[in-house]
Amino acid sequence: MIKTQMRQLFSSRLALGLIFSLPLAGFCLYVVFLQPRFLLSFSASLVFLLGIFVYQHFRLVWLRAEAELKRQDFQEKANLLEAQIERQWVALKSARKKLVDYFELKTIAEKLNQSFSLSDTSNVLSNEVSKLFGHKDLTVILYIFHSKTGELGISASHKGQMEVNIKAKKGDVYDQWVAKNLQPLLIEDTVRDFRFDAEKIKVEDDRTISSLMSVPMMIGGKAIGILRIDSPVENYFQTEHIRLLSTIGDLGAVAIENAQLYEKIEELSIRDSLTELYLRRHFLQRLTYEINREIRQKKELSFVLVDLDYFKKYNDQFGHMAGDIVLKTISMLLAEVFNIPGSLVCRYGGEEFAVFLPDCSKERAAQLSEEFRERVAEQAFYLKRQETRMTVSVGVASLPQDGILREQLIEKADRALYKAKQGGRNRVCVS
Ligand code: GH3
Ligand code: MG
Ligand code: MG
Repeated sequence: MIKTQMRQLFSSRLALGLIFSLPLAGFCLYVVFLQPRFLLSFSASLVFLLGIFVYQHFRLVWLRAEAELKRQDFQEKANLLEAQIERQWVALKSARKKLVDYFELKTIAEKLNQSFSLSDTSNVLSNEVSKLFGHKDLTVILYIFHSKTGELGISASHKGQMEVNIKAKKGDVYDQWVAKNLQPLLIEDTVRDFRFDAEKIKVEDDRTISSLMSVPMMIGGKAIGILRIDSPVENYFQTEHIRLLSTIGDLGAVAIENAQLYEKIEELSIRDSLTELYLRRHFLQRLTYEINREIRQKKELSFVLVDLDYFKKYNDQFGHMAGDIVLKTISMLLAEVFNIPGSLVCRYGGEEFAVFLPDCSKERAAQLSEEFRERVAEQAFYLKRQETRMTVSVGVASLPQDGILREQLIEKADRALYKAKQGGRNRVCVS
């Protein structure tokens, strides 16, 4: 069936071919034999057309090659542009990051400028660093070198926005390394870092420290302290982070030094230069505050006035310099004997001293005063190998027995002192 269909199709195509080719063959024979001029012009046209075709072909090939070259050229340019855009994007990202860092630094600097005390400055610095690196599990610690011993001591520490208590008060091995080398330290993974023994750290502090950075806070080649931040996660910090922390550390160093200077100046303004005791003005301010506090807490408090006996005579006899030495020694004895928690000792006037004793009964105050009087009387002052002596008269008053006001307390102590003078000096009188 299919075969017959195929045969039919084939024969119909053959017939169709014959129908078209026979007139064409007839036309060709007619042209060749009967119209040779037409054949000539037809052939010439054919050759002409062939020429045009060949020309167009080669032109097309050439155009294609040229287009390919241009395409490659464009591709190359596109690649270059893409690389340039990539570079500019990276530069833009880095510029944006720098801008953000700059604003963060500006904010920190502004906040540091507004804090004057050392504790405020330290807290601002520690808290701002904690905010900047922004993870609640990060611990920020600020150590400051002790001005005399040179040892590290914690000035502030934060975990997230909370203050935390750190066990390693003088810094752990990492901080000690920074203190010794005065170089920034970046530990990406405490377990893998061969320089330090991670097991030892675990013993010192019970929080997990997997990565950390610690930088010295430098000012003019001098190290003020160490700023350190650690994380329970490995590889939390990168090189750019430590660069930022170093900048903050240097910014903080200036602020901390300023705060230290400010506190020193403030301290100098409230202390007497000869005896280093509080000056009267500051003492009286503190006294008002302390009295109110003690009264609120319903506690007893005492006030002691001390005056050197015949000091004018001593000065006249041995000279002013010798008198100064006596004043200094007696100041030291005062601080030593009345060294109870919260006590304030002051140079009340030329050769007069005052002591405030919180939570201290009149009996106890009298006892301490007597001890002090004895210590002074026993103290020898040597002037060119000559032994000299000094005595003191002391007046004691207490609240609430002697009143409720500061003025009442002072007046009662003054009266007691007068009584001691009147009584022959070198004695303690209680109001
Ligand atoms: P009294 O026993 O009655 O207190 O006699 P006094 O001589 O101690 O008392 P007076 O008030 O007459 O003299 C106090 C002297 O203290 C006078 C002054 O020269 C001396 N003085 C005050 N301040 C200083 C000081 O800073 N250094 C020295 N060396 N002397 C001082
Ligand atoms: Mg006097
Ligand atoms: Mg005197």
